[in-house]
Amino acid sequence: MRRRIFGVETEYGITCAPHPGATTGVTADDAARYLFRKVVAWGRSSNVFLRNGARLYLDVGSHPEYATAECDDVHQLVVNDRAGERILDEMTEEANELLAEEGVPGTIHLFKNNIDSAGNSFGCHENYLLRRRRDFQSVGETLVSFFISRQILTGAGHIRPRAGGGASYAFSQRADQMWDAMSSATTRSRPIINTRDEPHGDAEKYRRMHVIVGDSSVAETTTMLKVGMTELLLGMLEDGVKIRDLAMAEPMRAIRETSRDMTATGPVELVDGRRMSALDMQTEFLDRVSTWLDDTGRRGELGVVQRRVLDLWERGLTALREQDATGVETELDWAIKARLVERYRAKHTLGLDDPRVARLALAYHDISPARGLASTLAARGLMARITDDDEITTAVTEPPATTRARLRGDFVAAAHERRRDITVDWVHLKINDASQSTVVLKDPFSPVDARVDDLLATLRA
Ligand code: ATP
Ligand code: MG
Ligand code: MG
Repeated sequence: MRRRIFGVETEYGITCAPHPGATTGVTADDAARYLFRKVVAWGRSSNVFLRNGARLYLDVGSHPEYATAECDDVHQLVVNDRAGERILDEMTEEANELLAEEGVPGTIHLFKNNIDSAGNSFGCHENYLLRRRRDFQSVGETLVSFFISRQILTGAGHIRPRAGGGASYAFSQRADQMWDAMSSATTRSRPIINTRDEPHGDAEKYRRMHVIVGDSSVAETTTMLKVGMTELLLGMLEDGVKIRDLAMAEPMRAIRETSRDMTATGPVELVDGRRMSALDMQTEFLDRVSTWLDDTGRRGELGVVQRRVLDLWERGLTALREQDATGVETELDWAIKARLVERYRAKHTLGLDDPRVARLALAYHDISPARGLASTLAARGLMARITDDDEITTAVTEPPATTRARLRGDFVAAAHERRRDITVDWVHLKINDASQSTVVLKDPFSPVDARVDDLLATLRA
């Protein structure tokens, strides 16, 4: 398999829950300011690059966002995404200490989900490097079908209020919030694939595919599957395998209907007039990827995680076909959450639309190991893991060693140590002194660069 660069950006939901008896809490805007107070103190901005190569910032709408550094391996990406959660959780704890010191009777919560109580949506963007080719538009239609049908495996699970009362369980939180299949605008039209051409690298060679549609994933195995299955499909498409027969006639209708149909067997209309369910479509994608792996002898080159991705992809589809989630109930977010919710409902005899059920479902996404449910579920064997805590601890301060992120991370670390003023983005490293020394890093695959060694020497001089 050819190497590929990927990164995941996660916007987090933030609230400040007032303590019992307190009448006023703190708004989300204020909570975000508390959260970023320390960052602003050292970075003089609420938009910074960290020594692990990642970007941390506060976007409009007060959503803290963490964009992982460039990774070239799915396991590495999962670890780096978890490191982002850890960093934000530590910031949350510090912010809560500040609130206590100032006598504010509230607790800040951060949620890795995609919708807040007012119905506002926020995203989790996947970024994949593609080799530039002219026929992106035709590949694009295939990818749109892939991302729409993928939610039956990688959706985070959503208790969806029904018009006129009650609620039903859906695959995805994000599906109802998407308005376009492909477009170059993010906030206005919210496309599944954003075609804004910002490669963060050599524009002659690369394109960065910016996927807006996925749900944020809580379970590591769901993140693994989400990115890993996409990596395999992209490998096949880049290898020249054509898929022309799976384009959907009405993608935006299909995305909503697919999310709401927990049987995954409802028909979706295709451009060529046929009808196919999301389940059959994902089965097709998996079959074609498998055939490609066999035909090209690439199956033997797969790493442990890639094999695990194929296995979980298969088991996810089997679970849906048999309408029995047992085989994936510790690995796929929608299934883990459904099981949690159903047990709780049975125990307390509650409707799906009960506010207590909503609170439980929300706690699934709370990133705090103390207040959220994920770490408890993992400890009880109800949520699978693929990383260990030591790897995550390392990734909080260490950049991925195999990509451009290494250069950025070393540069940021050296500047912090020497208290030097720098400006950094995904491709630029600059020292803000009389020299204005700048290095442009056009190759996201490269972790070594003699020019950066010189910059580091200048910083340390
Ligand atoms: P927005 O927040 O408005 O969506 P953006 O998509 O440009 O802006 P960032 O939040 O800055 O993005 O995140 C960029 C993401 O892309 C990071 O996760 C980063 O690791 C990843 N990335 C950087 N360079 C490349 C590349 N050449 N190919 C694929 N991914 C990349
Ligand atoms: Mg971003
Ligand atoms: Mg983005």
